[in-house]
Amino acid sequence: MNPRRSIRVSGGTVAGFWFRRRTLVAAIAALLLLPVETGHAGWLSDVFKRTTKQGVSPKHAGRPGRTAKVKPAVKPAHQATRLAALGPMALGPVGSKPAAGKCNPATFRIVLDVGHTAQSEGAISARNVAEFAYNLRLARGIEEKLKAAGFAETRLLLTEGKARASLVRRVASANNANADLFLSIHHDSVPDKLLEDWEFEGKKSHFSDRFSGYSVFVSRSNPDFRTSLAFAELVGKEMKAQGLDYAKQYTLPIMGRYRHPLLNEETGVYSYDELVVLRKTRMPAVLLEAGSIINRDEELKMDSLERRNIISSGVAAAVRTFCEPRWALLGPL
Ligand SMILES: [Zn+2]
Repeated sequence: MNPRRSIRVSGGTVAGFWFRRRTLVAAIAALLLLPVETGHAGWLSDVFKRTTKQGVSPKHAGRPGRTAKVKPAVKPAHQATRLAALGPMALGPVGSKPAAGKCNPATFRIVLDVGHTAQSEGAISARNVAEFAYNLRLARGIEEKLKAAGFAETRLLLTEGKARASLVRRVASANNANADLFLSIHHDSVPDKLLEDWEFEGKKSHFSDRFSGYSVFVSRSNPDFRTSLAFAELVGKEMKAQGLDYAKQYTLPIMGRYRHPLLNEETGVYSYDELVVLRKTRMPAVLLEAGSIINRDEELKMDSLERRNIISSGVAAAVRTFCEPRWALLGPL
């Protein structure tokens, strides 16, 4: 068992992806305008280049102060097993962008943004597993379901480096890939002040069983907010249809600076206007907090294949509905 397989995707293959129909001059010009590494950072990340360094990672760069706890010097054995099981990245055939207003599953470009990076892993779960590992595994499950549903142009967006810089790279990658839909995958935690202490596998750890559930975020500053909201509501409806409850704490005063307006109390869609990946992307963009990994009970569920299948199938169903002909005819809400 080698839990630290390093997967690197060739730049040439990725550079051709979704750019084939652009002129060479335009492609070169676009790459020159990108920040350093942007031209290859997104799709070319050395996904499993993990370290055992001690460090504190922000949960989300857009949520200052919402920091993760120090991660363990040695990864728990069960985490290593999970990472080894994730398997290599795979790139599908090159597609073309569908005509405006139409959605052909075979050519519809979906970016699945894996929240956080191997260097800045996001939240730390109640059992000391990094959020990044949860995000990556779930995103791969969603990718699999979408491709099985005919969405061949679904791509994982993996980014390297520190949190805030990675946000800029994510946006640049999605924009330059001319994606049709952007979905960022995360797992939830709580503000530090709500954390409680417990011991897991002999190590002092932190948890909060107070809140649980998924939540869906959009930015009212996204240039296509209405379509973003429409897709977010489809995702929320699918989660609800699976019997899942959404996280209600974001409206509570106890959340302080992390409070967000609830846009739909049926589906659990909140606005998170300032979040870079939702605001700066030039296509409909949604962030899914799939569930809480700081809640001890929910972490076990999020770690199960059953729950991953439920969420992955729900997202795929939402995308299918989003892409149905009637949506193309009616356009954004
Ligand atoms: Zn996150």
